Amino acid sequence: MNVILPTVRMKRQHTYDPVGACIYCGKTDTPLTTEHIIPESFGGTLLLPAATCRPCAVETSAVEGRCAGQLFRPARRELRLPQKNKKAKAKLGVETFDATIDGVPVKLLQQDFPTLLVSFEFDPPGIILRQPKTELFAGRIVINQLPTFAERLGRLNAKHNISEGISLGNQGDGTDLARMLAKIGHGYAVAEMGLGSFRPFLTDIILNRPPMHIGYYVGGLFGHMPKGDTATGRDRRPGCSARSSRKISPTR
Ligand SMILES: [Zn+2]
Repeated sequence: MNVILPTVRMKRQHTYDPVGACIYCGKTDTPLTTEHIIPESFGGTLLLPAATCRPCAVETSAVEGRCAGQLFRPARRELRLPQKNKKAKAKLGVETFDATIDGVPVKLLQQDFPTLLVSFEFDPPGIILRQPKTELFAGRIVINQLPTFAERLGRLNAKHNISEGISLGNQGDGTDLARMLAKIGHGYAVAEMGLGSFRPFLTDIILNRPPMHIGYYVGGLFGHMPKGDTATGRDRRPGCSARSSRKISPTR
């Protein structure tokens, strides 16, 4: 497990020329809004005006919302990445994070939660590795500690005298992460090269239109599928998920 160091924040905002068409479905005769190429919730500052129609924005926002609000929520809070509707959420009460200590579910405050950055890692896209197109898709689960992880785990152990273990309620879906990466890649390509200057491969993935061939265009696992920390999408909807129930031994 690696320790994540504080991030270098992108401060410079850059606005590209307006596109005048939805970069995902191509519609022009509809209200178009500004696209954040890297989502705002991850600190993105590259703006592409007049670039997305309402239905496509709803689809991409849902994927980003799940990535930001589930898979990366604890790490985003810890790294102080921007939060949408922060004031409205504050009215709902103090935010908590789920954990299970010795089999008992508990809700922990951010300052007490041993934060992990849980994510997925993919091999390069099959199109580069010369692999055939397939709807099978999987990724390796990667887990990194935030710098305060050990100290907080130690504090929790001192308070609860943990005997069996603690499990942290990290959850997320590798398909969502791959689709968000596709969105970032497509948006950046349009911003830099212009819509219509290349044949888009990623729009079916972004808009959830099967066959998506995520492994072929974004990345996945090819050949050897390791067991253990890997969730595969075999026999199921393409995807992989991390619902961490791993026990982490408290430091003593
Ligand atoms: Zn659209």
